[in-house]
Amino acid sequence: MTATATRLPAGFAGLDQPGSWPKTRCRPADLARSLDSLPGVGKTIQSRLAKLGLRSVGDLLSQLPFRYVGARPVSSLFGEGEEVSIEVTVRSVSARRPRRRLTIVEARVCDDSGEISATWFNQPWVAERLKAGDRVRLIGAVRRGSFAVRVHEPIAGHTDLVPVYPAGEDVSPKKLRELVLVALPRDVPDPLPAALKESERLPTRADAFHALHRPRTPEEAEAGRARLAFDELLVLQLGIARAARAREQATAPALGAPGELLERYRAALPFSFTEHQERAIAEIDADLARSIPMQRLLQGDVGSGKTVVALYALLRAVERGRQGALMAPTETLAEQHFLTLESLCTELGVRVALLTGSVKGARDTEADILVGTHALIQEGAALPRLAVAVVDEQHRFGVEQRRALAEGRAPHVLHMTATPIPRTLALTVYGDLSVSEIAKPPASRKPIVTAWATAEKSSLAYQRLRKHLDDGRQAYVVCPLIEESETSVARAAEAEWELLRNGELKGYRVGLLHGRLRPAERRELMAQFKARELDVLVATTVIEVGVDVPNATIMIVQEADRFGLATLHQLRGRVGRGADQSYCLLISRPREQLTDSAVERLEALVATTDGFELAEKDLEIRGEGQLLGTRQAGLSDLRFTRLRADRPLLERAREAAKSLVDAHGPLDDWVEERFEESPIAA
Ligand code: ADP
Ligand code: MG
Repeated sequence: MTATATRLPAGFAGLDQPGSWPKTRCRPADLARSLDSLPGVGKTIQSRLAKLGLRSVGDLLSQLPFRYVGARPVSSLFGEGEEVSIEVTVRSVSARRPRRRLTIVEARVCDDSGEISATWFNQPWVAERLKAGDRVRLIGAVRRGSFAVRVHEPIAGHTDLVPVYPAGEDVSPKKLRELVLVALPRDVPDPLPAALKESERLPTRADAFHALHRPRTPEEAEAGRARLAFDELLVLQLGIARAARAREQATAPALGAPGELLERYRAALPFSFTEHQERAIAEIDADLARSIPMQRLLQGDVGSGKTVVALYALLRAVERGRQGALMAPTETLAEQHFLTLESLCTELGVRVALLTGSVKGARDTEADILVGTHALIQEGAALPRLAVAVVDEQHRFGVEQRRALAEGRAPHVLHMTATPIPRTLALTVYGDLSVSEIAKPPASRKPIVTAWATAEKSSLAYQRLRKHLDDGRQAYVVCPLIEESETSVARAAEAEWELLRNGELKGYRVGLLHGRLRPAERRELMAQFKARELDVLVATTVIEVGVDVPNATIMIVQEADRFGLATLHQLRGRVGRGADQSYCLLISRPREQLTDSAVERLEALVATTDGFELAEKDLEIRGEGQLLGTRQAGLSDLRFTRLRADRPLLERAREAAKSLVDAHGPLDDWVEERFEESPIAA
């Protein structure tokens, strides 16, 4: 083990001169070094580490210990206990073989508080390595009056707290700890201006890593983590602030006030907007009247009525002889949006075109409103008449958008999301985006009734579903989740569909929707379902977002325990879109086979339909970090940040970012890198 005691938290308030940019004696490349550059790492360990996602020295250091084990006084150990760690001096060591195939090494060990015997089973070599007088940390539990050791390691320096990393089966926690200690650098690049470190009372980055991995107290560990989290948040906020600046300097066409077309639109809708929708519309109108490009987030739970508001914004462009575009994350969703918009626009005399891989062509780009995937619209995006873009469920700042901004022009952009992100989190991902929220669905909507049953009751669920079909309603059946290739998902869905068509759903018109269908096939299928030519849609999670058929009043989700909470909530939102009472029936494996968190998820869904409540619950069940799944690239990249607890830190980072927008220095590389790899909304 290297001598790492040199720079423990001594320099906890910035070692460099205030007011100057830091000089580092270490290059960023040092952290990028591959792990086999460390002593004790050969090909085998290297590949095991790679399985844990650890490839470089930086990766290793960027592991956040999920807890620390503190040493307990020996005298406090009694009875059979949980796993603890003790720090002791070895008094004597002996080994015996009470019978064949059993070796017991026993050591008398003590600390200031008392003495105990420690035992190792079938590890004869321990007797040779351990000598009287050695200082060791033992991790294990008391069993039959002696301390059964699982891990022992020499005590280096003054550490009392032992970090525990999320280890894999192939790499022991002890090995990970050893490697981290070896990798801990004396110095790492520290791009924060010293003045900022001083005013924010932040340790140097090198000290932060030491504090994180070798803390003496919990406070020290937390101070280290906070510094690293601050960096993450600062880079994020800085990127957002710079993009916002670019946006302010770009211009979009000012669209004045709404006119006759919008009046006709309102008149054509079979309902009037709710108070919440009206408020969002007023906010959008105010944005569109200005030549600063709109950047607004329209947030609302599934089925709250965002799409009709988004169309309002698109029509504002059309009214002024300009174009609107709606960008969806997948082709299925684009097609769905297309059908919805088209049905609303035809009687207004507004032309809507779908841009997909299969029907791409110059003629389409002439329509009033274009619908397509982000990629397609951005690819062929010579759309000089584009004035309003609606971006659905996508939190990325596309290349084309950047280019347009760089050229000083930009459309007004409305981001639509049904992922209920608590307000402050939205701020993290979207920065200074203005937020409109549709907090309540249209009043005529009844909350969906959700029930959970295990598989042996599934025939009752199908009985219920058939009743809805017999009453002229439609239904969804969601296939079990398979985490393999799209192809195997499609194959499994097909098998399921066959089974149902010849079993529970015999005699009904059953369609099958999965990601491997060709766009035209999917379009056809959705149109058929919408036109009530199909009774049931058997589907994979491709129906998760956007599908809108108010006559569908019941959904069965098979093997619901395998889906995440957010996915289930989104899926459930496909029903309950009309005035009638809707149902969501969750079928799971037997309760004994479920994990605690699966039970919690299913119970939460039965208990509430409130997306915000579920988001909070999800956060609780899953812990921080992976809250929003892969779609929210911006958030999932935060390694050290604890989104809920770090709100004050986020505010500090935002303030700091404001003061650094124009300062150019070492931080720029970080911002560039970060926004290059994981562009986020701006
Ligand atoms: P979201 O996009 O938020 O999931 P949608 O805009 O698709 O929700 O709306 C869901 C359903 O509610 C649609 O069938 C839509 O026509 C209907 N709807 C929207 N606004 C209202 C309203 N103010 N009153 C009644 N129904 C509405
Ligand atoms: Mg919608």
